[in-house]
Amino acid sequence: MNYYSTEGRSAPASCREAVLRGLAPDGGLYLPEAIPRLAEDTLFGESDDHAVLAALARPFFEGEVPPAELDALIRGAVSFEAPLVELDKSTLVLELFHGPTCAFKDFGARFMARLMSYFCRNEDTDKTVLVATSGDTGSAVAHGFFGVEGVQVVVLYPSGKVSPLQEKQLTILGGNITALEIEGTFDDCQRLVKQAFLDPELQNRKGLTSANSINIARLLPQSFYYVLAARYLRRMRGGTLPRLWFSVPSGNFGNLTGGLIAERMGLPVERFIAATNSNNVFVDYLQTGVFSPRPSVRTISNAMDVGSPSNFARIAALFRGSLEAARKAIAGASFDDDQTRSAIREAAQRYDYLLDPHGAVGYLGLRQCLPQAFEGAGVLLATAHPAKFLEIMEEVTPGRVELPERLSAALCGRKQAELLPADFSSLKERLLT
Ligand SMILES: *Cc1c(COP(=O)(O)O)cnc(C)c1O
Repeated sequence: MNYYSTEGRSAPASCREAVLRGLAPDGGLYLPEAIPRLAEDTLFGESDDHAVLAALARPFFEGEVPPAELDALIRGAVSFEAPLVELDKSTLVLELFHGPTCAFKDFGARFMARLMSYFCRNEDTDKTVLVATSGDTGSAVAHGFFGVEGVQVVVLYPSGKVSPLQEKQLTILGGNITALEIEGTFDDCQRLVKQAFLDPELQNRKGLTSANSINIARLLPQSFYYVLAARYLRRMRGGTLPRLWFSVPSGNFGNLTGGLIAERMGLPVERFIAATNSNNVFVDYLQTGVFSPRPSVRTISNAMDVGSPSNFARIAALFRGSLEAARKAIAGASFDDDQTRSAIREAAQRYDYLLDPHGAVGYLGLRQCLPQAFEGAGVLLATAHPAKFLEIMEEVTPGRVELPERLSAALCGRKQAELLPADFSSLKERLLT
């Protein structure tokens, strides 16, 4: 399978090239040239979940990763559960936070780390994975790559704009993981990473590669759990799949793009809901047809504080630029912090269920966008464990959240980070030393 650039000015790349480059040379994002449709039997047959995921993945790695390797890679990467919890008949939560860092990014990061390590197994120079994070990406990537041979990881995060726990998770590892604390916003971090990739000297000397949601190796496995959710749901409903909506709390839109790919592969999704916080550039696009990025604003769902969602280029490409087609497939809604707090409170009172601030935005998306008297299933993606946002949870639902073992362990670690101004020359100098 070849991969094309959304900018259309680079030659198609092999899977290996696309994965190791991250960004295409023309600055575009890679997408597979074809998204093959799988038979219903393949998606919903009796085989085990991992076998179905391997069948989903196979066409994208055809000719580059042998099926047995791919199968092992998936079993290693998706080594934790993604339970589907029913709050009521039409409101279900897909819990994507049972991985090592308690956020959905573990799916993409663990898969990507294993895939890169496979692609680089015969090389003698180290690769450098450069990643900007607004919180969860960095820790998922750092943990995904920690101890992986032949790969150095450099994580850029905005100083003072990630939760204390998130900061701990991405700074305690050491070893092949370096954390850079940038005096700026997440958008600054993302801009610096983009600049680094376009710098020929850095490219040549450091073998840079990306791990943001722009990397196709992170995107593809994010289609997996949509299929898992549908399989669980079908089982819960005695073998029939109800009308199915997914509400996706979104920032850079990698998660939602994963869903669109699953849908193209044959998953019968009626509609997606793009649920955002006040950073609502994409929701505005659905309403007005104009995509106009702007600086991000801070919210309590900070992993979605993105002013210029990078996967917009992919979504536009998947719909061939048609606003009508995008509107038909995706409903959009945005919510402010007060609404988010109320939603956390409501779910705790009505269902005795704790949603983190990101999941709460997804919950609000369902409440606002599901059709009247909907009898199908609205599945909201719970992208993080509430304990990752303890300060906010304590304020809204005091005394309710319990810290999972793997998070309390992180809190005991020692922070190791280097403070750096938000300018490219400082970053370049640091990377070359
Ligand atoms: C990254 C993240 C999101 C946003 O996902 P995108 O793929 O960037 O849209 C939502 N919730 C949490 C907890 C995240 O870490």
